[in-house]
Amino acid sequence: MNILDRDRLTRYIESLRAKASTSIGYPFAQGFDYSELYSLLTFPLINLGDPFIEGNYGVNSFAFETEVISFFADLFRAPKHDVSGYVTSGGSESNLYSLYIARELLPDALVYYSTATHYSVPKSVRLLNMKSVLIPTSENGEIDYACLRHELDKNNRQPAIIVANIGTTMTEAKDDVPIIKQALYEAKITSHYIHCDSALSGTYLPLLTSDPTFDFKHGADSIACSGHKFIGSPIPCGVVIVKKSNRDRVAERISYIGSIDTTITGSRNGLNPVILWYAIKTQAKDRLREKAKVCLSLASYTENKLRDAGFDAWRNHQSITVVFSKPGELICRKWQLATQGEQAHLICMPGISIDTIDEFLRDMIKDKSVENCERRLTTA
Ligand SMILES: *Cc1c(COP(=O)(O)O)cnc(C)c1O
Repeated sequence: MNILDRDRLTRYIESLRAKASTSIGYPFAQGFDYSELYSLLTFPLINLGDPFIEGNYGVNSFAFETEVISFFADLFRAPKHDVSGYVTSGGSESNLYSLYIARELLPDALVYYSTATHYSVPKSVRLLNMKSVLIPTSENGEIDYACLRHELDKNNRQPAIIVANIGTTMTEAKDDVPIIKQALYEAKITSHYIHCDSALSGTYLPLLTSDPTFDFKHGADSIACSGHKFIGSPIPCGVVIVKKSNRDRVAERISYIGSIDTTITGSRNGLNPVILWYAIKTQAKDRLREKAKVCLSLASYTENKLRDAGFDAWRNHQSITVVFSKPGELICRKWQLATQGEQAHLICMPGISIDTIDEFLRDMIKDKSVENCERRLTTA
């Protein structure tokens, strides 16, 4: 490599450092240290197919991947002898895989999901050529149960696949699985499948309560989670947990057409299972729980400070996402805020410090006083 190229790389890394220090709008944890795993970068570490079936290619991390699956299966209280899943490329693939399994089980079903659902769900529905029913949400972003009930009643001769959001993208609202189950029961739909998209909140909610209402005990048939969000990873990744019996029924069909691979992609990233395994082993549930509590209290601090300064900030229950009215363009760009319509949010992920939040608050207050000044000038 010549000097110019090397210099370019150095400057690029420096610029990332600067960008990362003002990244508070997207749910990606920072501050992790996987340097003990660096020598893994010298191998073509690739997982082919299902982690529970050892194939011919030996440079894999299946042993770590199955441990990661066990950890999440345990977290989500999956039935002990009816668990399968794998480490995916992210929450999106986890959603696609779950909907794929659901469609193979119930080919004639309608997919119900709310307008606050992550874009990977409608995308998967289109890819899988499924029919869907869009349900509005309440103001906090939670699915409107009365509307859901109404639509279920209307279509109660067809099986139902429901995608419950356990932490919506914009406001981190959680759909209530027991209420959804009750709606299915009242609409007399016995043939149903519930998928929980818990990409962001799934990793820490079960650590904060003894009875998370979105898990397998409460009727979930599959759960999707991202690995690079709360846990943190330099490479995007996710986890999907499904019931083995459901997966086996899909696998049977696939073997019929000549393949036993049950995952979505071909070669899968073998580094990610080791990264997640390392994170779980070094932090265990206790450290992860402590981290979640720190995030929650930082979110509460941010919400209160914004309100004290006259902003209309709010937060859903047990949420690390703080929602407020979209500020000026410069603030949105500097702090990389995610916006939708007139709403913006920031997410108090692991690795964000109180100093960072304080700097953001100072910017917000400055922005507001400039805005007030301009308003007075234009109305004067
Ligand atoms: C982030 C997110 C996804 C997508 O996950 P990726 O890991 O980015 O693919 C899906 N659903 C929700 C609710 C999310 O927050």
